[in-house]
Amino acid sequence: MAGEAQSDCLFCKIVAGEVPATVVRETETTVAFRDINPQAPTHVLVIPKAHYPDAASLAAAEPVIAADVLREAGEVAAQEAADSYRIVFNTGSGAGQTVWHAHAHVLGGRGLQWPPG
Ligand code: IMP
Repeated sequence: MAGEAQSDCLFCKIVAGEVPATVVRETETTVAFRDINPQAPTHVLVIPKAHYPDAASLAAAEPVIAADVLREAGEVAAQEAADSYRIVFNTGSGAGQTVWHAHAHVLGGRGLQWPPG
């Protein structure tokens, strides 16, 4: 069923506490944790606890939870990155998506180039 935990999903395992993560914020619907391979001084992933493969499918099925993810991304940025940061949803392997559980990257703490690579 849509949104149900997937046994082969790394981020579902983080939600379940089966894989350790450095959690910086948690709500009823979301978890925010540090990226294991940080690309900036602040690099936090914000995920919905429910499993959706990407941001668009999350927003289509659960718009309130998609908004929760965005709000939490903003809260992480406010805590750590002042007013200059980037929120990224890589979608599709050609765009660099490697984990098929929706996640927002929150990047900050250094200058960020535009356009991204
Ligand atoms: P994507 O490439 O946009 O799908 O982002 C997946 C992110 O998950 C990458 O930036 C990885 O470094 C990160 N990642 C992979 N495994 C872990 C983990 O176990 N803990 C935290 N971050 C992870």
